[in-house]
Amino acid sequence: MEQKIFLNFAVGPVQIEPEVLALGAQPIPYFRTQEFSALMLGNEQLVLQAIKAPANSRVVFLTGSGTAAMEAALINLFTPKDKVLVINGGTFGKRFSQLCDVYSINHTDIVLPAGAALTEKHLAPFEKKGYTGLLVNLHETSTGVLYDQKLLADFCKRNHLKLLVDAISSFLADDIDMSGLGACAVIAGSQKAMALPPGISLIVLSQEGQDLIKHNKANGYIRTLYFDLENALTNGLRGQTPFTPAVSILIQLNYRFRQLQQEGFDKIIRRTALLASDFRKKIKGLPFQITSQSLSNALTPLTPTHPVSAYTIFELLKDRYHIFVCPNGGAQKDTLFRVGHIGNLTVQDNDRLLEALADLNTKNLI
Ligand SMILES: *Cc1c(COP(=O)(O)O)cnc(C)c1O
Repeated sequence: MEQKIFLNFAVGPVQIEPEVLALGAQPIPYFRTQEFSALMLGNEQLVLQAIKAPANSRVVFLTGSGTAAMEAALINLFTPKDKVLVINGGTFGKRFSQLCDVYSINHTDIVLPAGAALTEKHLAPFEKKGYTGLLVNLHETSTGVLYDQKLLADFCKRNHLKLLVDAISSFLADDIDMSGLGACAVIAGSQKAMALPPGISLIVLSQEGQDLIKHNKANGYIRTLYFDLENALTNGLRGQTPFTPAVSILIQLNYRFRQLQQEGFDKIIRRTALLASDFRKKIKGLPFQITSQSLSNALTPLTPTHPVSAYTIFELLKDRYHIFVCPNGGAQKDTLFRVGHIGNLTVQDNDRLLEALADLNTKNLI
């Protein structure tokens, strides 16, 4: 593949800082060592702090993309004896639903129209109906809808539901309080706001989550080798993983999180919020409509108001200006594209994208 330099507003993989990229070019050390274990134990503490995890929480580092963590968390925390609710507001909600089908986990999907916020009225029909769990992508990345954390937390507490949160595109982009959520597990992925290469996913497990895994393992429910989280947790006690991890990404993670910790984990979230609001202010004169009822900091979903395909805009920006935005697929291919605000981006980068869009508009191409 020809390697051009792109300005990248995709929602993952995102632009990575030069110092982090340089670390990825270093020789890879052997990892069954005290030094690597110390780095991994450090990584665990850094992640726990960033996500405001409750006391006694643990982190599993999986080598695999975000979906691997979704699958692993689901099959370790839930069994065919459960009856779960799935907030299905788009591509990623649907993925939880598909995973439940694969593993014969009873589920009811709360299907939301594209762009719609989750409200009390969507949950009300499911109060006290014998459900045991709830699966949610805190930010439905396909449409750019951020769900209400307090609404979900209160509903789950009231109904004694085990809560599994996919925060892959909200971790380090929007404020997440795992303690406040009362989640038994929260998932994150390296290629989104963590701004690392793709390949590592995280599962943060509360004490309740760890106890559930132990219980399910002891009762013979966990039928997987690579995704056996009890095994991963045991290995993690000594800073190791059961299988060869993506060593370089874990070294990059350590560097990046120590940097973020130094400036305070809230700062990256504030910076992302500022970048998003700058873009949303400046896009106003151009022929687009912002389509989410509950915007995140991570991205802005845009629908063209002129008769031009959203996918054509993605291609024009890529081919003429060397700029990536994030196209949608399926039924939304022509109506929606997304502009990310995560990764190593600045207000000047926003301006370059906006100039390109203004240029296309002047030329009547969009
Ligand atoms: C990116 C993303 C995923 C994971 O996708 P992978 O391609 O498997 O990394 C899962 N959930 C959400 C909400 C995401 O944004």
